[in-house]
Amino acid sequence: MNTILLDIDSRGRAAGAARHPEKQNRAESPLLRKPDWIRVKAPGSEAFHVTRKIVREHGLVTVCEEAGCPNMGSCWEEKHATFMIMGAICTRACAFCNVATGLPDALDAGEPNRIADAVAALGLAHVVITSVDRDDLPDGGAQHFAHVIAALRAAAPQTTVEVLTPDFLRKEGALDVVIAARPDVFNHNLETVPGKYPSVRPGARYFHSLRLLQRVKEQDPSIFTKSGLMLGLGETRAEIMQVMDDLRVADVDFLTLGQYLQPTRKHHPVMAFIEPSAFKAYEMLALARGFSMVSASPLTRSSHHAGADFARLKASRAGV
Ligand code: SF4
Repeated sequence: MNTILLDIDSRGRAAGAARHPEKQNRAESPLLRKPDWIRVKAPGSEAFHVTRKIVREHGLVTVCEEAGCPNMGSCWEEKHATFMIMGAICTRACAFCNVATGLPDALDAGEPNRIADAVAALGLAHVVITSVDRDDLPDGGAQHFAHVIAALRAAAPQTTVEVLTPDFLRKEGALDVVIAARPDVFNHNLETVPGKYPSVRPGARYFHSLRLLQRVKEQDPSIFTKSGLMLGLGETRAEIMQVMDDLRVADVDFLTLGQYLQPTRKHHPVMAFIEPSAFKAYEMLALARGFSMVSASPLTRSSHHAGADFARLKASRAGV
């Protein structure tokens, strides 16, 4: 297998003024050389191009591309694209994220059906649907999530659906709309430890995000809940353990831990590259705390291998 060190900047995601206007006055920090264990498959196989063609033909946005995900080569080769709904422009400006910030476009009423058609064309057994933050909408985009889930149920009834949602902060009733649409998995990433929220996720509130996950489980225990952290932002081991405990109190089923990679010099610096053995140790500690599933490795992303992980999660609930 050919592997390369994928430099996210080489994907054309330069520290451009238009893409991240809010970061223009931030100090630059050097992009550290990635260690050898962060190796990814080069995009370009035939199956990769088929996936890209289907995404383009349906006029869809993927987080794989917008976030400059290092796993694109391997995921798209397996037709696993994660769709980002409600446009490519986000109303938040998280310090880790490569998605563009600005004033988003109006919602596209045709998007739910195009997503469903694309998922059917890709033949996905499991799909992950995420979105930009839409603080500009009265419901934060909750109803649009529900429309997408309904369209998927109609066009691809065998496909299980995982939503990776924003926090719906100050959007009264929004979460209820998504829960009522009954996704198979509800994922909301805490992203980092509470002490890092002001510098990493300034528009969000740690305990609000935690409570969001807890409310999903309280309202519909049949929905699997999932959350994830990026490591390497300067958090301590004790802080990570505290977040694990908080997530278990919130009854979250599945934890993902991956290495933070810095998209551009204007983004939050990588404070540490966590060794694979340390990820393995965190996985053991998380499993001991009672998570049904844990995925922890440098290249773990919340949608990476989501289909296979969901199958394992279901099996663990069934006691298989
Ligand atoms: S890990 Fe997720 S975001 Fe990254 S390429 Fe795979 S499906 Fe896309």
